[in-house]
Amino acid sequence: PDLLDSALIRPGRFDRRVLLSMPDLVERKAIIELHMKGKPFTTDVDIERLARRTGGFSGADLANMLNEAAILAAREAKKAIDGRDLEEAATKVKLGPQRKRMQSERDRKLAAYHESGHAVVGHFIPNLDPVHKISIVARGMTGGHTSMFPEEDRFNETKSRLVGQISMAMGGRAAEEMVFKDLSTGASSDLEIATSIAKAMVTEYGMSALGPINVKPRAMFGMWARMEEGEGLSEAMQSKVDVEVKKILDSCYAQAQLILRKNKTKLDKVAKALLEKETLDTDEFEKIVGKKKRTYG
Ligand code: ZN
Repeated sequence: PDLLDSALIRPGRFDRRVLLSMPDLVERKAIIELHMKGKPFTTDVDIERLARRTGGFSGADLANMLNEAAILAAREAKKAIDGRDLEEAATKVKLGPQRKRMQSERDRKLAAYHESGHAVVGHFIPNLDPVHKISIVARGMTGGHTSMFPEEDRFNETKSRLVGQISMAMGGRAAEEMVFKDLSTGASSDLEIATSIAKAMVTEYGMSALGPINVKPRAMFGMWARMEEGEGLSEAMQSKVDVEVKKILDSCYAQAQLILRKNKTKLDKVAKALLEKETLDTDEFEKIVGKKKRTYG
């Protein structure tokens, strides 16, 4: 809707909005197979794994990914597309191409600790997915990234997983503070993510001391997803919401700090490995921090 001319979305024109949800695991597998047709692949390419790794990808993203992978393989004069081409293509579709630029040693070290902070915090929170990849290769607007490997498509989140996700988002900033005794601006999108999850917990999911209540502002009829922040909330209620959001964020930050303090040696080792290799996969990461301990539910 935000791409359409505002004349088109004026009330009375197109009042009905069709929501297309992202393809699920089975659908992604089918879409990937469809776009693989006619392209050569090495035998190590695992479609099931690829479908799992691409949670949140649209059909167009998947088509893009397979085209990109073909281009990457052709560029290196390979006879077939392999798993590495696909991994690089998947990352590129979501985060943009690698940005080769001169980085000072301090910037690289900061990025390494920041990403290691996310990964280590995420690893030691039992109900989060295992770390899939950590990288300090800059792409698009990001100076690095850490991604998880979803073991299943989730259509529902639990409070403990949401809290875990906030703590993990805070892990980058917490590591910077701990190691450099200083803060960078690199964590601003992490804080944005953390804050929006916390807000949703309080105002939509009834997961705070305010209890089971939905005070989320509603979209107005005939308009597309245009809502006024805090509209319809009394000032008293709004300030209660703010207090609860702040409480969640503070306790998650404290949890991230605690995990990193307890595992400082591992944090150092992960950061060092990242500085050497720039990118670590699950195996390389778990060799340093140990296998992921899971609790389900
Ligand atoms: Zn971050």
